[in-house]
Amino acid sequence: MIDTRRSAAIIDGRARARKVLEDVKSQARKWKAKSGVVPGIAVVIVGDNPASAIYVASKEKTAKECGFHSRIETRPATASTSEILDLLGELNVAPDIHGILVQLPLPTHIDAGKVIQAISPGKDVDGFHFVNVGRLATGAVDGAIVPCTPAGAILLIGDILGPDLSGRRAVVLGRSNIVGKPMANLLLAANATVTVAHSRSHDLAALCREADILVAAVGRPELVRGHWIKPGAVVIDVGINRVQTGEGRRAGLVGDVAFEEAQSVAGAITPVPGGVGPMTIAMLMANTLNAAIRGGMG
Ligand code: NAP
Repeated sequence: MIDTRRSAAIIDGRARARKVLEDVKSQARKWKAKSGVVPGIAVVIVGDNPASAIYVASKEKTAKECGFHSRIETRPATASTSEILDLLGELNVAPDIHGILVQLPLPTHIDAGKVIQAISPGKDVDGFHFVNVGRLATGAVDGAIVPCTPAGAILLIGDILGPDLSGRRAVVLGRSNIVGKPMANLLLAANATVTVAHSRSHDLAALCREADILVAAVGRPELVRGHWIKPGAVVIDVGINRVQTGEGRRAGLVGDVAFEEAQSVAGAITPVPGGVGPMTIAMLMANTLNAAIRGGMG
């Protein structure tokens, strides 16, 4: 039953991301004063996907705001896997580069798996290299570079529930390597009891209703309805779905959760946009700073 008089706290991801970036900026300044090192990030973009170009421009702008050195390496859509591997080989040993990111998706003829595994683990600021995945999965979280979106989401959860989630039931909808699996591992590392659901799971609504913490990362507009949510739950909506809205068929963004319905049941909820999205880029900067401080040790 949805109680329309109740209203969840709206988690302000933009404000939290600003705070992360302020911390990164001030730590980067201190690190430079102490070591003379300016954190450096290289972003590799292959082809001319317009969405990728926007993301890369925004990463470069934020890196500059943090006082980082930033390098964009653009290659044509016709580039081969071995050309990209050669480029990564150079960046892996470049002393002014501490973080390397390959913007996904890559053109289909490029072996994305090979490319990701060619990044030095100590510079893998996306956290997709097997070494970082393995560290997180085995609970060696402090030594891992954690994928940016789940790293941001766990910060938002920790702000509300604290760092120790003992006794809490968490449900993660989605099992991708980018969001769902690392999210589940972070929740487990924080002592939550975790269920991971996906497209082959049965009765998602019943699974979700058990969750004190519900993370939706499925890429299905408004899949999660208000009556799927346990009253008072913390709801983290990772989904970003472009849809046509309203009479005038205006394009808009919606999450994986039906926000208005969920708001009247949940205890706290992230909006889309303005929730998890801004955290992702902020955590990329935090990962780059930490990689610089560790000296790219993998
Ligand atoms: P993905 O790789 O497509 O994975 C989607 C996952 O959801 C899969 O595990 C899939 O199950 C599951 N799924 C799909 N339809 C389902 C359904 N009807 N019921 C239950 N499970 C279902 O996507 P992703 O990269 O994890 O991204 C998920 C969403 O988050 C997307 O909207 C994406 O745009 C967004 N995202 C946002 C950020 C951010 O910065 N906020 C970052 C990354 C992604 P199977 O494994 O069984 O196929």
